[in-house]
Amino acid sequence: MCFYRRVRNVYLRCGHAINLPEEEIKCDSVRCKFSPNHPSTCVPPSCTQTCWQYHQFPQQYAPNIDDLCPNCKAQR
Ligand SMILES: [Zn+2]
Ligand SMILES: [Zn+2]
Ligand SMILES: [Zn+2]
Repeated sequence: MCFYRRVRNVYLRCGHAINLPEEEIKCDSVRCKFSPNHPSTCVPPSCTQTCWQYHQFPQQYAPNIDDLCPNCKAQR
């Protein structure tokens, strides 16, 4: 089942955090409406009964980066 990944880079040297654009992570299931492997012949109403119609709960990812954020870097 597909989901969105939200990445928030945390820059340790200045304490700022920057949110990156949401990324969609695709699965390969034929039973997921958003999957690249979902057959184009599978359409509602049967699709709504056999396939996932929603994304999974988004994954949050916040890597700590031992550096200044790009904004602070640009000001130096
Ligand atoms: Zn999927
Ligand atoms: Zn379907
Ligand atoms: Zn900063």
